[in-house]
Amino acid sequence: MKKFAFLLFLFAFMWSFPHIGDAATNTRVVLNGQQLSIPEEVQNMDGSVMVPIRVISQELGYQVTWNQDDGKVAIDGEGKSITLNIGKKSASVDNQTYTLNTAPVVQNGTTLVPIRLVSEQMGIKVNWNNSDKIVTLATTGTSTGGGTTSESGSNAENGLALVNGISFSESRLLVTLDKNVTPKVSKMDSPNRIVIDLPNSDFGGGFAQGQSASAGQIQTLAVENNDKVSQIRYSQYSTDPSSIRIVIDLNNKQNYEVFNEGDGLLIVDLTPDNGTKPTPPTSTEGTTQPGSAVGNSGKKVVVIDAGHGYQDPGAVGSVSTEKALNLAVALKVEAILKQDPNIDVVLTRSDDTFLELKQRVKVAEKLNADLFVSIHANSSSSSAASGTETYYQRSNSKKLAQTIHKYLVAATGFKNRGVQYGNFHVIRETTMPAVLLEVGFISNKSEESKMNDASRQQAVAEGVVKGIKEYLGVS
Ligand SMILES: [Zn+2]
Repeated sequence: MKKFAFLLFLFAFMWSFPHIGDAATNTRVVLNGQQLSIPEEVQNMDGSVMVPIRVISQELGYQVTWNQDDGKVAIDGEGKSITLNIGKKSASVDNQTYTLNTAPVVQNGTTLVPIRLVSEQMGIKVNWNNSDKIVTLATTGTSTGGGTTSESGSNAENGLALVNGISFSESRLLVTLDKNVTPKVSKMDSPNRIVIDLPNSDFGGGFAQGQSASAGQIQTLAVENNDKVSQIRYSQYSTDPSSIRIVIDLNNKQNYEVFNEGDGLLIVDLTPDNGTKPTPPTSTEGTTQPGSAVGNSGKKVVVIDAGHGYQDPGAVGSVSTEKALNLAVALKVEAILKQDPNIDVVLTRSDDTFLELKQRVKVAEKLNADLFVSIHANSSSSSAASGTETYYQRSNSKKLAQTIHKYLVAATGFKNRGVQYGNFHVIRETTMPAVLLEVGFISNKSEESKMNDASRQQAVAEGVVKGIKEYLGVS
């Protein structure tokens, strides 16, 4: 009877998670430099790396207690007790409640749990290499170089600044941290590069899984089709005290400006060399307008802000989180705008990282953006609530709101809830025309499923771009 109940439970559970099964094959897990042999699949579900519970008990050595009757998995270690609930996004650590991006699941008899909460609580660094499907786990205190194991407390106790995100667009590097550091930036040649050292800093838990680097490992950020920069590299440069090094590999000699004005936002802006004429971005371009862009490219600077991120999921639907939907649309908007030689598009985040609202504002203000678009999804306690709306806060944003909304509502096909006044931080504290889009309701099953559809996201992105271009008068 128990077995029957369990099967029923399994069935109900699998039925409610239809997205299970788009698994990558041949995923590998590397722990402290050694590849583990685990027959079960490691998967990336909705952006969460899911590992078999066996990795946590046998490989990481934590005590795992599996209570099949109530679907609870308890993990004890490092003086902490984590409780996960199969099929549920709620979890607890000691007595604090956490919301997971993806619920633990039982699949083909294997319990898969999201590694992130466990890794954060137990101090394990996780890196997910999506193209090669490799999960790298590194327990802190294990130095790959055979060095000292000096870590004892949390980073907060160590006073380290935590890097939450590194991104590069067009001609500027954006680094977000949880507090200010004074970077040491220098130019080197043969080969030409700019070296940014962040003293007393480490990678934060909010640093995207695909980006994190453990001691000694150098990670690269690919830069495509850029005439100035070939790639960005970063690593934990030293461990005692911890520091981060970021290197911009240049194609040519390049001057730069560093903006470090608080709130943990650091921008390294590549500027044309003194004494040389700025080269136009493309040969097809005639005269460029005297635009307001930093870096005097003459292009219109558009900042696209995917709402929420990392520990802040935004609204949570039945199969998705708002932060993921926002990011999906933002990346598609970026991809389209990038093709326009008149527009310099900058994302506040390009992965699952977290920025404070004031950091998002600061990105737009520092870059002297021509406009700012924040992408969100709506939620209501009434599951019937539906529709698309666009918010402005300042009067100089109303026209932008109207222009984008017209195309946005056509693209979603949802009910038209109109252009509205909304007192949101990011559109209030910015000074350029700024709008906040509520694409649709994640709390509405039908709209949620449409917002998860890649072709609908593409249509929404195209609509947003049409509005932006019409407003800017570029075609
Ligand atoms: Zn939101």
